Amino acid sequence: MSAGRRPIISGNWKMNFDHFEAIHAARALGLRLASADVAGVDVTVHPPFTDLRSVQTVVEAEEVPVVLGAQNCAVEDSGAFTGEVSPLMLARLHVGYVIVGHSERRRLFGETDDLVAAKAASVVRNGMVPVCCVGETETEREEGMTRDRLASQVDAVAVSLGPSAVGASVVAYEPVWAIGSGRAATPEDAQEACGWIREVIGMVAGDEAAATVRIQYGGSVTPENTSALLEGADVDGLLVGGASLDVAAFVAIVQAAAGVPA
Ligand code: PEP
Repeated sequence: MSAGRRPIISGNWKMNFDHFEAIHAARALGLRLASADVAGVDVTVHPPFTDLRSVQTVVEAEEVPVVLGAQNCAVEDSGAFTGEVSPLMLARLHVGYVIVGHSERRRLFGETDDLVAAKAASVVRNGMVPVCCVGETETEREEGMTRDRLASQVDAVAVSLGPSAVGASVVAYEPVWAIGSGRAATPEDAQEACGWIREVIGMVAGDEAAATVRIQYGGSVTPENTSALLEGADVDGLLVGGASLDVAAFVAIVQAAAGVPA
């Protein structure tokens, strides 16, 4: 981590928790997260769409110290797009952060770099912050393509957003092989990739954007590996999947992040 950038820990609930379970989880977070835990760390939670209104109500009524997030959104604000979810409507629910380009959406739903870049721009246009996921597959890594793959994914988003929005965004480095596998990247590999992403942003969007953009690592994060992963100077936070479904584990990750010296 670096003193100049506020760390950000995000919980991606994926397609888990119905709205009753989500209310329970949000309340449990409120009971366990102390204000000291979040004094120096941003915490976001990304429930399924059907839970957002319920979680918003709990977060606001009970002053749970997290920012509401979403896992995806449409490019357009409204219209004939059956089954899509509008970024404008997310903003109305006080969603602050929207994940775009998660590898599950790229792999299972065919999202391309261009579509992800367009979604990131829609998120920004609606006053929210995109969490832009990038990462190489195992094959790309074995073939020595990691840097090229990251550069093309980051380039698409950076060109679409422009320097000032890129600087205010979050990029999540999530190697596909590390997601849900129990095989987290080593802290050295996470730092190397996050450093490269910052370098690419510097080349495409300028030094100021590179200095302010926050870059998360994601992939099999646990309370045990949090501190080591955050030691990298270019790793500004974590995107947490499986462990975020266990409120105690997620709070332990936030607390570990709060304790890592910048
Ligand atoms: C994710 O879904 O973004 C993720 C990183 O999952 P996990 O922490 O379970 O690997």
